[in-house]
Amino acid sequence: MSKKTNKGQIGVTTENIFPVIKQFLYSDHEIFLREIVANAVDATEKLKALASSGEFKEETGDLKVVIELDEKKKILKVSDSGIGMTAEEVDRYINQIAFSSAGEFLEKYKDQIGSIIGHFGLGFYSAFMVSRKVTIDTLSWKEGEKAVRWSCDGSPEYEMGESDRKERGTTITLYLDDDSAEYAEKSRIEGLLGKYCKFMPVPIVFGKEQEWKDGKYVDTDKDKIINNIEPLWTKAPSELKEEDYKAFYKALYPMNEDPLFYIHLNVDYPFNLTGILYFPKIKERVAIDRNKISLYCNRMFVTDHVDNIVPDFMTLLHGVIDSPDIPLNVSRSYLQSDENVKKISTYITKKVADRLEEIFKEQRPDLEKKWDNLKLFIEYGMLSDEKFCDRALKFALLKNTDGKFFSFDEYKAAIDGQQTDKDKKVVCLYATSVEDQYRFIEDAKNKGYDVLLFDCELDAHYVNLLERKMEGCRFARVDSDSVERLIPKEERVKLEMAEDARYDLENLFKAVLPEGNDYYVEGDNLGENEPAILITQNEFMRRYREMSALGGGMNFYGEMPESYNITVNMENPLVAMILDAEKSAVAPQGELPPEADKDASEEDKKAAREAREAVRNAHRADIEAFAKGNEALRQIVDIALLSNGMLKGKALSDFIERSRKVVSDAYLKKD
Ligand code: ADP
Repeated sequence: MSKKTNKGQIGVTTENIFPVIKQFLYSDHEIFLREIVANAVDATEKLKALASSGEFKEETGDLKVVIELDEKKKILKVSDSGIGMTAEEVDRYINQIAFSSAGEFLEKYKDQIGSIIGHFGLGFYSAFMVSRKVTIDTLSWKEGEKAVRWSCDGSPEYEMGESDRKERGTTITLYLDDDSAEYAEKSRIEGLLGKYCKFMPVPIVFGKEQEWKDGKYVDTDKDKIINNIEPLWTKAPSELKEEDYKAFYKALYPMNEDPLFYIHLNVDYPFNLTGILYFPKIKERVAIDRNKISLYCNRMFVTDHVDNIVPDFMTLLHGVIDSPDIPLNVSRSYLQSDENVKKISTYITKKVADRLEEIFKEQRPDLEKKWDNLKLFIEYGMLSDEKFCDRALKFALLKNTDGKFFSFDEYKAAIDGQQTDKDKKVVCLYATSVEDQYRFIEDAKNKGYDVLLFDCELDAHYVNLLERKMEGCRFARVDSDSVERLIPKEERVKLEMAEDARYDLENLFKAVLPEGNDYYVEGDNLGENEPAILITQNEFMRRYREMSALGGGMNFYGEMPESYNITVNMENPLVAMILDAEKSAVAPQGELPPEADKDASEEDKKAAREAREAVRNAHRADIEAFAKGNEALRQIVDIALLSNGMLKGKALSDFIERSRKVVSDAYLKKD
């Protein structure tokens, strides 16, 4: 061997850097390929720069990075025709690792190490996570330089000498170790290139294009390029069409439906950030794909966990962000407090709001068409981000039960007056289901009211938010009261009823209503032709229950029984008939035995109390017996329950049985 070979120690202060690398980088071994390919791409880009500045005068030739895999020998090679390195440069860049406290640093940031490594001149050394030996063959672009061969078997000792390489550029050869045999598989390497190198700016070749021939796939002569060197976000928005954005989305997420809208991000001051974000179709929260935004650093894939960089609701978006200004060399929790990251986060949120406002102004019909699939994102954003909320008040839409859309301002103007109550509040009526609340919706519409539809899972919280944000408005679910009382125009006069009569009425109805709920029974004059009973649910009680079910921390309400208001229509002839029948069947409660004297003994007091209680109980038992035996009463109560969707199971089947009898009695009258 005529070549001169030097031996030397790699210049790190830690005793031996390799065990450190192996140990701490364990979970992220696969990034070695990104690091090696990124170096090759960098070297190629540098050569291009030298060529365009005129410093490099020869032909650059076909500039590409070629990856070769010998599956059997477990050897992976990454070659470029970039600037190469002189012996002096190998010594400077490779032998003397450019920072002093590698070990200490790795110890501190072991969790984030995957994204750090490239930024501390350790990129190349990540090759040792998967290799028993690594060689570099390199020839610098500089005239008169000799090719260099460097090799190291993972100990801090390296060998350096001359290489017989003739072409400008560098080849890194990895002799994969047995623990890393997976990287000797073509499909694994393909997968990694797809993940990390998809958008790098120099063509990356791995194998040949294939064609179908004689019943199987065979290699052609054509190189297979695995990357897209001009990803869409690097182009000027003015050159791009809607279809380009759609096609790029399809390329990113081949299995997804078309996105609703996109945003092209492009800033270079005070930080550098480009990217394209998409609003995906979101139907339900459970089906949401999070972590679909990929973070790139100069087109090198870094992560798809951007949750510390953008506000939580933004993680519902899909797409790509590319920024060299997001510090990757810090812990994830530190990211959020980083000034640059804060600016970036604010910028993205603002851009998203700007874009939505633009869509609202310029593509209103399109926005309305896609609203149902966009709404969850916007509601979530409004609920979780005050700034976004204030912006969204301008472009968020409300949809009514007829499918008509309004902005908040438009809606308020539309219902002002007709739906203004005695306290000058504009009452927005809403339904959560067109099916379940059908009758209430119809009643409201017949009265000339408009009814909004809030059928999204966040709506319980959302309604509260809107009530705070829409000044002078109040929200009431359409079934929270009788249509007459939903929007009270004047002070309501309660129906005068004697205490006894009220007590009887309450016990009469409670006897036949389903157990387990709380009922507040009252009589009112709703009109002769109106239903006998109206079951409504207090707006606020219901909302608190719903919110606590969604996890609002108000468990107190969540554990309470459901409570309903039962309004008995005293003007309804059936009700009048039933109350008459009750009067003749159930004797009035009569005189209660006297209360005990103030200074009577405890025993006497108790006896007196019990005697009074016994009379009351006996009376209530009479009412209950009457109620249970009164078919008309059961029938009107069941009809009311049925129209609220509350009649279920045995009660429903009993009702059907009874109704069949009523029907046949009515139509098959025997004389
Ligand atoms: P970093 O890329 O973060 O600077 P590395 O350890 O990956 O750290 O590489 C150290 C240096 O070695 C690079 O900055 C570059 O100067 C040189 N280098 C690595 N790979 C190549 C290559 N393929 N061609 C030319 N120079 C390279």
